[in-house]
Amino acid sequence: MICKICSQKIEEGLGYGKGKIYCKECYEKKREFIKSRKYKLELLKSLPLDLKIIKTKILIQEAFDIYGSNIYVSYSGGKDSTVLSHLVRQLQPNILHIFSNTTCEYPETLQHINWEKEHNGMNILIVKPYDKYKKPWNFKRVVKEDGFPMYSKDVANAIRTYRRAKSDKTRQNSIDYITRRFKRFLSYKDLNISDKCCEKLKKTPIKQAARKLGMQCAILGILAEESRQRELDWMNYGCNVFNVKKDNQCKPLSFWTENDIYEYIELYNLKISKLYEMGYERNGCMFCGFGIEYDYNQGKNRYERLSITHPKMHKYLLNNFKDILDECNITY
Ligand code: SF4
Ligand SMILES: [Zn+2]
Repeated sequence: MICKICSQKIEEGLGYGKGKIYCKECYEKKREFIKSRKYKLELLKSLPLDLKIIKTKILIQEAFDIYGSNIYVSYSGGKDSTVLSHLVRQLQPNILHIFSNTTCEYPETLQHINWEKEHNGMNILIVKPYDKYKKPWNFKRVVKEDGFPMYSKDVANAIRTYRRAKSDKTRQNSIDYITRRFKRFLSYKDLNISDKCCEKLKKTPIKQAARKLGMQCAILGILAEESRQRELDWMNYGCNVFNVKKDNQCKPLSFWTENDIYEYIELYNLKISKLYEMGYERNGCMFCGFGIEYDYNQGKNRYERLSITHPKMHKYLLNNFKDILDECNITY
């Protein structure tokens, strides 16, 4: 095996880090780097809101300086997105927002987006998901053809890789990987679970529309504290990720906390989706299973809340997906 960073040969059993893919020297350097970035992120997170607002605006302005008008806000209708839009529009009032209607949005999300468009001057393009033959995608079709988005993106990705494995060797590697990283989910490995949903219903439609319009950079309302992956992304690349990955991204809220978001909403008296008054902390998609195990409010998970707030939608969920929810041991 060779070191993933310096390409030096690693003797059998002498690799370091997760997956044992680094030589000792690279692993230690990487550890130091991550440690210092983590410290910097904590420092940024501890800033008062007024300083965070200034830093965020500087980051957005940097993106404008480079990409001019070829930049858009990737809008979800949620509270983080709404705060982001409010900040960006102070610098460029008519900036384009793009929203993908995933076909399983809460009605309150759609109502809020409509309000932003009709009554709050938001320049927004609403797109819908289609495949390359112009056949519409929807949640039900994604579940049927790819699998249900359940547990977490990483777990769903590992299960999809196992289920799609073409050789015994790949299949065994997938089992080893699941055992190593997500042992608790090993017994679910044969279920119809996949991580493809977001790509089909959300990411691709937005990116395709943006590309068609000549957009070169997306502004995203992502907080590093939302997930380990987002935190790692920030540590490795920072807020403005230009000319590094396939897509240029400006993530100027990365170092904000959820408390900052609520403080900002209160400070500027921002209107947000009604969903947040109904016991939901995230707007997401109604039927999404990602994060379901941790999404509890007053002892009820997302699906249990849905049965109270949106009984018709809950009925649809059970009519169509009860089997997989049972197999996954998810209460509803
Ligand atoms: S949030 Fe969940 S349900 Fe919505 S598009 Fe992404 S994976 Fe699918
Ligand atoms: Zn190395």
